[in-house]
Amino acid sequence: MANLSSFRTVRDVHSAFESKKISPVELTQDYLNAAKKSEIGAYLTICEDVALQQARAAEALIQRQGRVPCLEYPLLGIPLGIKDNLNMDGVKTTCASKMLENYVAPYTATCVSRLQKSGAVTLGKLNLDEFAMGGSNENSAFGPVRHPTHPDRVPGGSSGGSAAAVRANLCFGSLGSDTGGSIRLPASYCGVVGMKPTYGRVSRFGLVAFASSLDQVGPFAQTVEDAALLMDVMSGYDPLDSTSIPQEKMNTYAATQTAPEWSQIRIGVPKEYFVGGLTPAVEQSIQASLKWFEKQGAQLVPISLPHTEYAVSVYYVVAVSEASSNLARYDGIRFGMRPAASDQAKDLNDFYMKSRSLFGPEVKRRIILGTFALSSGYSEAYFQRACQVRRKIVGDFNDAFQKVDLIVGPVSPTTAFKLGEKSSDPLKMYLNDIFTIPANLAGLPALSVPCGIDEEGLPIGLHLMAAPFQEDRLVSAAHAFQNGSLFGKV
Ligand code: GLN
Repeated sequence: MANLSSFRTVRDVHSAFESKKISPVELTQDYLNAAKKSEIGAYLTICEDVALQQARAAEALIQRQGRVPCLEYPLLGIPLGIKDNLNMDGVKTTCASKMLENYVAPYTATCVSRLQKSGAVTLGKLNLDEFAMGGSNENSAFGPVRHPTHPDRVPGGSSGGSAAAVRANLCFGSLGSDTGGSIRLPASYCGVVGMKPTYGRVSRFGLVAFASSLDQVGPFAQTVEDAALLMDVMSGYDPLDSTSIPQEKMNTYAATQTAPEWSQIRIGVPKEYFVGGLTPAVEQSIQASLKWFEKQGAQLVPISLPHTEYAVSVYYVVAVSEASSNLARYDGIRFGMRPAASDQAKDLNDFYMKSRSLFGPEVKRRIILGTFALSSGYSEAYFQRACQVRRKIVGDFNDAFQKVDLIVGPVSPTTAFKLGEKSSDPLKMYLNDIFTIPANLAGLPALSVPCGIDEEGLPIGLHLMAAPFQEDRLVSAAHAFQNGSLFGKV
């Protein structure tokens, strides 16, 4: 079995294929074996046959051409894991919910099929918080994911399986979804790179909807360079998603290959992101990272995002409202588990009750909150009000991006916490998303890149945000940071 941790980038893997150090089938088999042996709970489904078939096709192509044709197939033979709220034809999409325990997807999500068409091998489906609702991966109906290096800790959520699997070498890279931070938070807790695109860049077709105005799909990888590569492959207009934006082909990978012109880069440091609550280790790492940017010649600009304090409240009105509407389709008739005849539903209401009781407690809580926030007589006071404040938050960013090119701060106030530590207190858990949520509310691209470890060896993530469609600025600065600073080498 190959030493999987020796492959850091797609380029490393492709040169190992070309020098015949390892073949795509061997590599895929090694990842499959690691995934099957692992006890951290990252996988919900392993697609051994499909993956090996894709690997054999990659192998045959390399043999025929005598090299990796990486222009046409930039991900040839690269084994990836997919969050289990993205459809893959013929494979279960459970959303980590009893409600969809036996649901087999009849088509493949656009983002996944674009990866497959670029030669990627899809190893299987990764664990998450039920319907992507959560920040610790403890809300999965099929058991939590454990932190890859500290098994008594959470990996972050909701894409906990996606982050942990990359860190634990159970896949080379992966896909997650980010509604309020679900890519960046677990990336920061697990010490990998996670990126969320501008809203509309990556198709949501085939992503099970949680909160449609916030949801975006994005990649996890060990390096910024590979996250950029995955993003480039996935992004682009898709007529099957009505919120997909007509756009030029993205080439952020190219942005990682040239050094940033630091003297032209203004980095905004929002004062609201440094007000108490940060653990000393997080605070120190972020400050040290900012100094590194300054040393390169970037200008640090103190800024203010005055409506930050409302972001969590706005999010938990907007997200739950949209969720209550999106999840109405799971009624046991159109979607979701139908109660068995032996359950003897008395009438239609009883039938719905029997079916919808399959949702876990966090999903139920959000459906109830969302239904309330949208109900007649209350929707002006809650939902519409939240939408108004959301515009204010967007306005804060518009003002800030007149003065700066990037905004940099922490991803999370803390490092990975202990399993069970916050599960009895939903509000505490919700507050964890304070720094990631604003980018979703404003539709901004953002990423987390490792920037240090705390006294227990737990990774810390640096958060970079850019104006819409400025992904190349984001990855160029983050790539330089990851390669050039001491902190990026976690
Ligand atoms: N933790 C946030 C929530 O519970 C974000 C989830 C997400 O981004 N999918 O809603």
